[in-house]
Amino acid sequence: MTEQEFRKVYPLIAGWIKKTLAQHASVARPVASLGFSRLPHCYDAQLLASSMVVLVPKVPMPPLSAMGLDRFREFEQMDAGGTTYLNTYFVRADQAHSESLHFHELVHVIQWRLLGPEKFLALYADGLERFGYRKSPLERIAFRLQKRFEREAQPFNVEAACQSLIQDMTSHGDGPAPLDGP
Ligand SMILES: [Zn+2]
Repeated sequence: MTEQEFRKVYPLIAGWIKKTLAQHASVARPVASLGFSRLPHCYDAQLLASSMVVLVPKVPMPPLSAMGLDRFREFEQMDAGGTTYLNTYFVRADQAHSESLHFHELVHVIQWRLLGPEKFLALYADGLERFGYRKSPLERIAFRLQKRFEREAQPFNVEAACQSLIQDMTSHGDGPAPLDGP
């Protein structure tokens, strides 16, 4: 995606996110209130208190094709289990009890905060376009940390791990980087 194209769609996507979050604000609740047992060992209490969850039958995706981004139609139509906008994530109701999915979306909350909305969206769109959803760098970070959460009982500091992976990603330029662990 060219810089010029991004400049044009960024305000549309940002506006859609703002509107979507406002529409769901009354039913959003802090992830801390869901009572998961392992998340508090991986994320600090403040993050769990300030990150909001909305349970929905279908997670809302921005109308990218209507914004002229037709090549993201497949992504737009994906029936994802979860998706994150800023400090709020949407989870499909049938996945509500999946602690691992909540873990994954919280990685995105951290990414949004560390990068800021504009950089997050620019990197996300670029990764999606070049590598596809599953292999886009920001998703690879989330999936990699999620896998670790699923495999290891030992808690780890996700925020620090995420920060260092983002640093690697941005300093190595743009490639998918050495994100694949064993
Ligand atoms: Zn993800």
